[in-house]
Amino acid sequence: MRVPMIAGNWKMNTTVNEAVKLVGELRTQLDAVNYAEKVVCPPFVSLTAVKETLKGSTIKLGAQNMYFEEKGAFTGEVSPLMLTGLCEYVILGHSERRQYFGETNEIINKKVRAALKAGLKPILCVGESLAQYEAGQTEAVVTDHVTGSLKDIPASASLVIAYEPVWAIGTGKAATSEQANKIIGIVRRVVVKLYGDSFARSLRILYGGSVTADNITELMKQPEIDGGLVGGASLKVDAFASIVKQTAQVRK
Ligand code: PEP
Repeated sequence: MRVPMIAGNWKMNTTVNEAVKLVGELRTQLDAVNYAEKVVCPPFVSLTAVKETLKGSTIKLGAQNMYFEEKGAFTGEVSPLMLTGLCEYVILGHSERRQYFGETNEIINKKVRAALKAGLKPILCVGESLAQYEAGQTEAVVTDHVTGSLKDIPASASLVIAYEPVWAIGTGKAATSEQANKIIGIVRRVVVKLYGDSFARSLRILYGGSVTADNITELMKQPEIDGGLVGGASLKVDAFASIVKQTAQVRK
């Protein structure tokens, strides 16, 4: 059985003080919730303070990005070694990184391999743009993203994939649960081809894109969907808590 995961991507939101307050409030609502893994991914500068606030909590911590080199003259970047021991997860290949920062499958693959080497668990994002969706290219795009980003990783790698159609991110237009289930099934079959059946069967594949407290139960009723990567709603305590609680309820 795959334990469902709800991960909150806070993006470029919250000051350090706001992050500490938010996670403190989340602890009150979520520390006692079982049957779902809970992860928050605040901005880099808040990781240390949030980690401190999460001492003794069941909520886990992730980063939103990292560079693939371990150290050196890469001004402004954060290395895998800097995150090791600070957080467990790291989001890689988010569509905003692909779109605004020119990240290609090749770069993302280097990041995935560097994260795994450093003992971090990547949350790898894949998904088609609106134009690709309208052109019927969804399957080709997710196949390309998964194949390119997961090249040459150990077959024992501990990672999570998030299928995030770009047209659904921050738009309020989520994929239907059936659509999301179908594409996640395709992603899983790509992983079967790459790394075999048992790896693919144990791999958690999340859906992301306008997940809310109103659509999470329907999404979680689908057999292929193992949780959600949540953007906007992860900044609202009640909404995020409700998403986690509904997920646990469906899967317990
Ligand atoms: C995201 O940023 O990964 C995301 C899914 O955002 P939202 O939930 O706001 O659509």
